[in-house]
Amino acid sequence: MPQVKAYAAQSPDSGVAPFPIERRAPRPDDVLIEIEYCGVCHSDLHTAYNDWGITTYPIVPGHEIVGTVKAVGDAVTGFKPGDRVGVGCLVDSCRECGSCEHGLEQYCEQGWVGTYNGVDRHDGTPTYGGYSEQIVVSDRFVLRMPESLDLAAAAPLLCAGITTWSPLKHFGVGKGHRVGVVGMGGLGHMGVKFARALGAEVTVFTRSAAKVEEAKKQGAHHVIVSTDAAQMEAAAASFDFILDTVPVPHDLNPYVNVLKRDGTLIIVGLLGPVEPALHTFPVVLGRRRIAGSLIGGLPETQEMLDFCGEHGITCDIEMLDIKNINAAYERMQRSDVRYRFVIDMATLKD
Ligand code: ZN
Ligand code: ZN
Repeated sequence: MPQVKAYAAQSPDSGVAPFPIERRAPRPDDVLIEIEYCGVCHSDLHTAYNDWGITTYPIVPGHEIVGTVKAVGDAVTGFKPGDRVGVGCLVDSCRECGSCEHGLEQYCEQGWVGTYNGVDRHDGTPTYGGYSEQIVVSDRFVLRMPESLDLAAAAPLLCAGITTWSPLKHFGVGKGHRVGVVGMGGLGHMGVKFARALGAEVTVFTRSAAKVEEAKKQGAHHVIVSTDAAQMEAAAASFDFILDTVPVPHDLNPYVNVLKRDGTLIIVGLLGPVEPALHTFPVVLGRRRIAGSLIGGLPETQEMLDFCGEHGITCDIEMLDIKNINAAYERMQRSDVRYRFVIDMATLKD
């Protein structure tokens, strides 16, 4: 099997460092991709540091992968060498359950295979992510990247983008809706761009008055400083949807209160148990809904990419030399990046 250059973490405190890996020879349905850029997601550092207690080392992170097809297996008809392609969070699933049949592989009832920290369903080998020269992925899990988009800036669409796009589409966000976005990080700024492009009136909720101008620059029509009780009171019962992208436990009650009757609070930040507890009276009295959503399936990811191609939507990024990845993780923990680091994989070669 061919060896390729990669970066891996060996233990929770090792940091991420050069580590050659093997990529399988393409199977009949496989696409061999030369990786050009890879976005850096918060899941990468949580997995490298074993923050969730589920990491199998060595771990090669990276699931916002874009590049060029180098070779394809005999059975592949949808891709050919030279095509611009992407790979997101998933590289396989059972392909047979109800969720998979509906193209919702992220809810596969047998468990999907992650792009990293997963196990290949055929040979039991660990899956290694995008911090590497090449990746081999079954064609069902490969996306077409629109020619009109800057490839590096499009990489984070494959996780940050689809995570916010999927619930906005699923719940039918569009013209005439008032949408609030909580949190202005990698996910939040994409949520603002998508909600606006879908025709909604968009409000960003931020804890910091210093972020008001930045939120408007990203396309928000309005900004509410969530620590200002008067502003929150004035917003009561006025939103159709709130997209909550904050990845740490926080008080959800203020966001339930700003929902209209039948409004929906959508959680995409995987925040865990919340303190203070959620009051259910406002949920019942207003027939409001609390919903969750996880990344997206392959058909809806392609739909999002095509929409981005038509509307010129990409992520705001900072290019990164892979040799500085550990410093980048430290900056991400301080929210010191607007809004996504993207590794230039050419820096892996020197
Ligand atoms: Zn991610
Ligand atoms: Zn399935």
